Amino acid sequence: MFPRVILKGTMIKKSQQKKRTSPCNYKERYFVLDTQDLKYSERRPGKKPMMKGCIELSRIKCVEIVCSDIPIPCNFKYPFQIFHDSHYLYIFAPDNDCRLRWVRALKEETKHNNLVAKYHPNFWMDGKWRCCHQTDKLAAGCSVYDPVGYASKKPLPQLPDSEMGLHDAGQRVVIALQNYTPLGDDDLPLQKDQEYVLIKSSHPDWWAVQDSQGNTGFVPSTYVAEKSSTNFERFEWYNKKITRGEAEDLLMNEGKEGAFMVRDSRQAGVYTVSVFTKAPGSNGEKNPRVKHYQIRQSETGQGAFYLAEKYLFSTIPELIHYHQHNAADQWEVDHEELTLGQELGSGQFGLVREGTWRDRKVAVKMIREEYMSDEDFKEEARIMMRLSHCKLVQLYGVCTQRFPMCLVFEYMENGCLSDYLRDNKGRLSQDIMLGMCLDVSEGMAYLESSTFIHRDLAARNCLVSKNNEVKVSDFGMTRFVLDDQYTSSQCSKFPVKWSAPEVIKYCKFSSKSDIWSFGVLMWEVYNEGRLPYENRSNAEVVESLNAGLRLLKPRLAPDAVYLLMEWCWKEKPEDRPSFALLLHELASLSDL
Ligand code: ADP
Repeated sequence: MFPRVILKGTMIKKSQQKKRTSPCNYKERYFVLDTQDLKYSERRPGKKPMMKGCIELSRIKCVEIVCSDIPIPCNFKYPFQIFHDSHYLYIFAPDNDCRLRWVRALKEETKHNNLVAKYHPNFWMDGKWRCCHQTDKLAAGCSVYDPVGYASKKPLPQLPDSEMGLHDAGQRVVIALQNYTPLGDDDLPLQKDQEYVLIKSSHPDWWAVQDSQGNTGFVPSTYVAEKSSTNFERFEWYNKKITRGEAEDLLMNEGKEGAFMVRDSRQAGVYTVSVFTKAPGSNGEKNPRVKHYQIRQSETGQGAFYLAEKYLFSTIPELIHYHQHNAADQWEVDHEELTLGQELGSGQFGLVREGTWRDRKVAVKMIREEYMSDEDFKEEARIMMRLSHCKLVQLYGVCTQRFPMCLVFEYMENGCLSDYLRDNKGRLSQDIMLGMCLDVSEGMAYLESSTFIHRDLAARNCLVSKNNEVKVSDFGMTRFVLDDQYTSSQCSKFPVKWSAPEVIKYCKFSSKSDIWSFGVLMWEVYNEGRLPYENRSNAEVVESLNAGLRLLKPRLAPDAVYLLMEWCWKEKPEDRPSFALLLHELASLSDL
């Protein structure tokens, strides 16, 4: 039986950049969707059409419009995406109607496939996802994928009538509360948390808005909230007419750590945040209880709201959003929720034990006071907990109520990378070794993009998961080591053999000094866990580095891999690659 043609038409396709040498480009193609494949060909006047590509529909895992916040660099301004195999294809339709026709038809034909649960609503560009900033192109998506239609299940109001034109109403800004996929040509896609200029709000259900590219259209008014300083009635955390006592009853009944609401204070125009907590108070307050904080407004002018003066926000929703994600007690692990098991090993800060926390296995580092500057660490823990990437060993929290203080980490079944390499000597294929380097470079590219410096990258500071994935651990931790044998580059425990010359000479750490260490880590991987400069003292290593000598090519390393190591060991930090670039280079080696 022949496949039946469903749709055809001209659109623009962005190259998929499978090869690192091919420039990024946009080409007009004639697309044909039938019941089996999506084919595209080049059509030039007077020439035979030339078939350029064909995607079997059964390989498609996601089809969705792209909510872009940047100018579209080609003439067709309505992008959508097709994720198949491990490739993202971006196609640009000439108008929104056309885009929707294609997206709907493709969704319909692929709805029984093995689809993704989540997808990326924005573009992959310059080495990261514009929606969630992940730097792994194949990282799981950040928005729920709806295979049949629209991301939201909220019932939509009736469409506006055509007489309701777009009119200018001054500069009012709204924020999208959720994604919205347009239903017709007159409405506009919304991307959650993005800002839009409100053009007209006279219709109760449909407001006209403009996106950052200047596209205008209607959106359901319930999907957006005005960004003005006091209009936050749409938020579920706001309870207008509730007294302090009622707030306490409600929150105590719920009994959930961190549960909160914003309510009107007795004083007109002033708002209070009421929060439930079980954590012990600094002045011996009883637990559990509800605490009340007034939202204050800075003297300096309109719209500077705060709970703590250090953190000012121009609107109350922004203030709430920030504190929701950066709660002061968020990093505190309740010691009653933590069970300790057998010993896993011992490190710079003390014993490491297996444990259980909230039904998951964890690794618990028990900190010996004399080994760690723990007050400094507590300050930093908050920043470190916000670093979250599939190739980093996650810090879940800190338990300070218990003595000694414990750090709770994601559990890594296969222990540290250096031991793993040695234990599997002779069994590591080229693919596995390159994969390990790729894993680490992904984690490091994320740290680099978060402007966070590791300072002690080495195979001993990476861990291996149950599925043999390698993740970067112990990032930034050397700053809290009190043992000066470790902290001074002149001393015996300083990791000289992994350190860049500028670190050894002036303690100048940067992402480029991390790159140097990464080169040594690659060397460790391709030498199956051998120690670098095995029989040489630190002083001898410094001397040979000064003479321009470098570690030799490991027997198992292909030339292309050793070239990358040498690039990491350039004398001048600015001559070394960034992790983003190195990741790209390693990825292209794995494509070969
Ligand atoms: P430190 O950073 O204090 O020097 P390490 O990270 O070297 O401590 O940990 C010591 C040992 O504990 C490691 O070699 C490893 O075997 C074990 N370990 C540490 N973290 C984990 C973890 N997240 N999962 C499993 N084992 C771990």
